[in-house]
Amino acid sequence: MVRRPFGWTGVAVPVIGQGTWNMERADRAEAVAAIRRGLDAGMTHVDTAEMYGSGRVEELVGEAIAGRRDDVCLVSKVLPQNASFSGVLRACEASLRRLGTDHLDVYLLHWPGRHPLEQTIAGFERLVRDGKTRFYGVSNFDVEELERAVALAGADRIACDQVLYHLEERAIEHAVLPWCERHRIAVVAYSPFGSGRFPAARSAGGRVLAEIARARGATPRQVALAFLVRRAGVFAIPKAARLDHVLENAAAGELTLSAEEEARLERAFARGRPPRGVPML
Ligand code: NAP
Repeated sequence: MVRRPFGWTGVAVPVIGQGTWNMERADRAEAVAAIRRGLDAGMTHVDTAEMYGSGRVEELVGEAIAGRRDDVCLVSKVLPQNASFSGVLRACEASLRRLGTDHLDVYLLHWPGRHPLEQTIAGFERLVRDGKTRFYGVSNFDVEELERAVALAGADRIACDQVLYHLEERAIEHAVLPWCERHRIAVVAYSPFGSGRFPAARSAGGRVLAEIARARGATPRQVALAFLVRRAGVFAIPKAARLDHVLENAAAGELTLSAEEEARLERAFARGRPPRGVPML
């Protein structure tokens, strides 16, 4: 599994990690086993949130990482409605309890909300000071919101922006991604398989994926993941509750596409026009 610096933090994080949204719907023992297999295979970036299963997913993640906390880059998120100064501190304590750990690696604001961002950031700074999280970041922020966040927090404080990014949703490439690259803020691609809507094998794009996959002895999903993390500041967090899916995704962390393969995919999956704001799921 290839690792690279997580933006300005410099922490080496695997290019392919593990999402956990909706994992409470899977068989619990299988989901726990899947996360553990993912860790064994190097997918040690584990993404969760207080929102997922109303806390049940954090409990499941806690079970999966028990005894190997130090191997994991553990990320959780506070809901916007909880993101006042004191709300952030309370939400973090509750997440830590469910996760069975005394600290997070990165704590994110799940999406922009009604609480003033300066309060949220002050809460995050307090958590860093108290050792409850090593870093903090944001999710679903567009460039304007990122600019505000950096103006409030200062340079080299916001670790990442977690955003929707998959082959059929490349909007972040217009502005969010280059802006984050300039500010050395990691970009974490969520729903990298379109949240279950992966390009159909018979579609034009699906055929290009299949051809490249065949030539490289890989699968279309592995090619898709390799494409998404082709730039140095990007990480992807596919969610897989099935063991075979986990292993397939982890192996994508070894695949590097050629410039020609990337160009073919660029053409097959149009980037589209610059969006207003940042697309969300
Ligand atoms: P996703 O990762 O794009 O797709 C997940 C779906 O793909 C699941 O149905 C999974 O099936 C399937 N899958 C995974 N690997 C596969 C493989 N190798 N072959 C075939 N199918 C495969 O969707 P997502 O869960 O929306 O996004 C990933 C993570 O990003 C989330 O879990 C969450 O942690 C994060 N996220 C964050 C936000 C945010 O606002 N910050 C929003 C959405 C998602 P199985 O589970 O059955 O294996």
